[in-house]
Amino acid sequence: MSIEQKIKQNIPLASLTTFKIGGPAKFFVEVKSKEELSDAVEWAKTNKEKLFILAGGSNILINDNGINGLVVKIANNDLRVKGERIECGAGASLSAAASLAIGKNLTGLEWSIGIPGATVGGAIKGNAEAFGAATADIVETVEIFNAKKLKFKTLSNRDCGFGYRASIFKERDEYIIWSAVLRLKKENPDIIQELVKQSIDFRQQKYPKLPSAGSVFKNIPIKVIERQNPVLAEEVRQKLSSPFENVGAGLIIDMLGLKGKTIGGAKISLEHANHIVNTGKATAGDVVMLISYIKQQVRDKFGIQLNEEVRYFGF
Ligand SMILES: Cc1cc2nc3c(=O)[nH]c(=O)nc-3n(C[C@H](O)[C@H](O)[C@H](O)COP(=O)(O)OP(=O)(O)OC[C@H]3O[C@@H](n4cnc5c(N)ncnc54)[C@H](O)[C@@H]3O)c2cc1C
Repeated sequence: MSIEQKIKQNIPLASLTTFKIGGPAKFFVEVKSKEELSDAVEWAKTNKEKLFILAGGSNILINDNGINGLVVKIANNDLRVKGERIECGAGASLSAAASLAIGKNLTGLEWSIGIPGATVGGAIKGNAEAFGAATADIVETVEIFNAKKLKFKTLSNRDCGFGYRASIFKERDEYIIWSAVLRLKKENPDIIQELVKQSIDFRQQKYPKLPSAGSVFKNIPIKVIERQNPVLAEEVRQKLSSPFENVGAGLIIDMLGLKGKTIGGAKISLEHANHIVNTGKATAGDVVMLISYIKQQVRDKFGIQLNEEVRYFGF
């Protein structure tokens, strides 16, 4: 089947996101092979349609009016264990990769157990992390498709420019992650089970049950808070017992008593102040208004600028 035959029109996207919000894609295609990916990118170029890459949809907010362009869903879900390495398709679920690793007594991915929706490609792009462990720690190589040069290329970990919630993929939109090799380590199964339990328990207690897109804002370096508002920095220090470099945006939002604040169907989660939940009929407009309300409150009361971790699609 040619790529024209595979591309569908006016496809609803809300159900493909964990927020369950957003309008349809003008054009939509799922790609499972390298050839399909390069054909889809070329099709968008030829037809002058903007290109959007969608994976697990667990960190995005889609415009209510939908996406005016071609949405490419990365659907190469292969996972293969080779010794201490896992070869992953970018569309493979991160949790599935973690379960496979755990079954082989490999450590390095336990922190991701219980994150709904996330894929390996999405995790690499945002350098997903939890409990002090990050995607960057286990990436050996990443195979990308360069949508400008129309070529595949393999990058080393160093080439990926990883940082806190940062990578070269956030700077270079033309880099589409196609596959990756993760390097894990053998570990005692009891230790692995303990890390799995830590991840599951934390998420069950702290994460909202309603649809969300995970953390809305990036955490804030304590150095920034010290510079902008030394009184707040001291207050934060008293609240947190262990040493830290970044302060959870949720803590700052909670200190303003904003949990439960609601605009339309969007609400600041009662369980975790850095999560906005969809109480049933939230629109992207509701979420955007709530985000700007939070940013304004934090700026006015604490002099701190919050930055979004969630990615806007089609705005
Ligand atoms: C309840 C909940 C809990 C969460 N907990 C955590 C957590 O503990 N730690 C954490 O780090 N995150 C967490 N998240 C956020 C989210 O799961 C991660 O950011 C995840 O890595 C996003 O992956 P995704 O596949 O869903 O990407 P998507 O949301 O589909 O996409 C995110 C961005 O990456 C781009 N993208 C995706 N795949 C590719 C690709 N193959 N090539 C190029 N660009 C691509 C998209 O265009 C978009 O800009 C949580 C989310 C939820 C809903």
